[in-house]
Parts: sequence; structure tokens; C-alpha cells
Amino acid sequence: MTRIFLVAVAFLVAAPIPFASATEKRCSDPDAALGVSRIVEIDTKAGPLFGDFSKYEREPRFLGPKEVVLTFDDGPMPRYTKPILEALDKFCTKATFFYVGRMATAYPSMVKEVMGRGHTMGSHTWSHPLNLRRRGLARAKDQIERGIAAVELAAGQPIAPFFRFPGLSDSGPLLAYLQSRGIATFTVDVVSNDSYISSPSRLAKRTIAEIERNNGGIVLFHDIKRSTAKALPAILAQLKKRGYKVVHLRTKSQVTPIAGITDQLEKKRDKKQASRKGKPKPVPIYEAIAPSTLAGDDDEPSLTELAPEPRQRVKSSAEAAATAPPQSSISGDDATPVRRTRRSRKRRARKKKVSTASPEVPSTISSAVRGY
Ligand SMILES: [Zn+2]
Repeated sequence: MTRIFLVAVAFLVAAPIPFASATEKRCSDPDAALGVSRIVEIDTKAGPLFGDFSKYEREPRFLGPKEVVLTFDDGPMPRYTKPILEALDKFCTKATFFYVGRMATAYPSMVKEVMGRGHTMGSHTWSHPLNLRRRGLARAKDQIERGIAAVELAAGQPIAPFFRFPGLSDSGPLLAYLQSRGIATFTVDVVSNDSYISSPSRLAKRTIAEIERNNGGIVLFHDIKRSTAKALPAILAQLKKRGYKVVHLRTKSQVTPIAGITDQLEKKRDKKQASRKGKPKPVPIYEAIAPSTLAGDDDEPSLTELAPEPRQRVKSSAEAAATAPPQSSISGDDATPVRRTRRSRKRRARKKKVSTASPEVPSTISSAVRGY
């Protein structure tokens, strides 16, 4: 009798779980699943600009009523990125991350983890200067390029040609430069204000109210904020309850980092690793995250392809002329501001007069929008 009982228990334990639906297979909590209602795949060749928060001409809104795109900036910061990934997994949904080069360099495995879970990775400059448009064009371009190169190096795979300005501080010449590089720029439609709200319940309430007021849109969060990590499950639960749908952004386009910058970053990384050899490794501040069953779904949501037409965004000819590539700055080793004397400024001005544009990057917006 006992033997029969044990055999029965062993059979029950070993028996395969009855076949579950696709949602159940992918989600640990199917009842809570917000899911992904559709994928929007963006062709970034024309360097489109999406979202409400810009004075420059933008693409028409591609989201329908009650559709949201979830975006997270400034990370990775493992102690908050990890619970955010867990919340997104619990609700079986996907987001887009705009990472800062320096942060990605510090936590490369977290960057890989985010992408491994099927989220989309864009970039957000090298060191997040809030006054990018007032930095001088060459240094601003260097910030953009160094950010792209660092995030891609940390990811160990191509990232999306998606960019967001720190503090949404865009400018005509920089948007034109991004166009010339075939990079899509995202502003936002809904600001969660998580940079300023420390109470998770207040943050959830405000974010939902803003999403309702805007009837959906591209929502901005930061995965370096405790309040965001704490509030996200409540926000996602409310979105589901109120009938909102999540749209996931993707692209087939690729951004090629500037090789010289990647080489510099790689050398610095290798040097740092070599100097650490033999010494105990720093204690990781987060545990490894288990591989997610969400990555590599077989049954994908419906796909919308978006290929915006090239558009002339910069009107002033002075601005357009300023779209030449950051020749001198991108070869520099450091993106920190340099105080210049009047004499060196004069010297630079003389040099500028005789310099010619790079053959690889168009020097005017009209050539940029032809798709070079
Ligand atoms: Zn930011």
C-alpha cells in the first residue's frame, strides 16, 4: 500500500504540467498580464522625431487611444533596474530603455540582462549633461556618439538607433546630426515626474492621472529611482484595470558606433580589468537574475511597420551648416568641458575655416535626409 502511494506521489511529481495556453506558458501570473498588444517596428533611416515634448517638427503620433509605450532612462542601476525588470516580467510586458554610457560601462551585465529579457535598448549620451544644446556642437556630438559606443560595447550586441536627449534638451543642429546618422529621437508624451516624487503611491497616482489625461502615449520613467521601482507594479496593474495596451518599440535598423570611440572605451575597459587581475572582485550589489521565459516568444503580437518620410526639420541655414560631424572631439579621450582661452578660440576658428566635411557624414540637412 505504502509502495503504491509512493509510486503515485512520484508519478504526480514527475508528470508533465498539463499543456497551458501561450500566455500561461510565458507568464508566471497570467491574470495580471498586461502583455504587449502590438509591436511597432521603426525604420529609422530618415531620423524621425517622436513624442510631444519638442518645439521641432515631429512625426504624427503612431499610438492609438489608450496605447502606451513604457520607457526608462538613465540606468542601469541594478538595485532598481532589477525589480523593474521583475515587474515588467510579472506583467508580461516590454519596454524601451535609454541608457547612459557611463552607467552601462559600470554595469554591463545589467545591460545584457535587459536586452536578454526582450526589451529594446537605446542610448542617452555618455554622461548625461543636462545642457547638451548649450555645450557646443562638437562636444554635444561627442556625448551622443560616446553614449552609443559605450552602451553597445556593454551590450555586446547592436543596440537600437534610438536616442533621447537628457532633460529633453534638444536643438536643431543636434536633431539634424541625429538625422544624418539615421537615428530616431524620442521625446515623451507623459512625464511620470519620478525624478521629483519620492512617494511610490503618489507617483503611481500622478502617473496614471497623466496617462488618463493624455489618453496614453510615450511614458517617461527612470530606472535609477527607488520610487519608480516601488510604484511600477501598481502602475502596471492600474493600466491593465483601466484597459490600456502596451506597444513595444523595435527596429530592424542598426546604428554603427564610431570605431575610434569604441576602441578607446575598449582599451580603457581592458586596462581596468587587467589592473584588477589577482585582486578580489568587487562584491556585486545585486544577485544574478534568472533567465526569463519571456525572451524569444513564439507567438508574437501584431506588427506595425513604421517608415517615416525624411523631413526638413531645421530651417535656418546656419543651423543646417552646423551639422558637420564632430571630427576633432570624437577623437578626444574625454568628454568633459575644456575651458578655452580667447587665443585658442581664434585658432580653432581659423582651423574651422579650412577644414572640410567628412565624406561619410553629410554636411547639410538636405543631404542628410536623402539617406546617406
Ligand atoms: Zn535622463
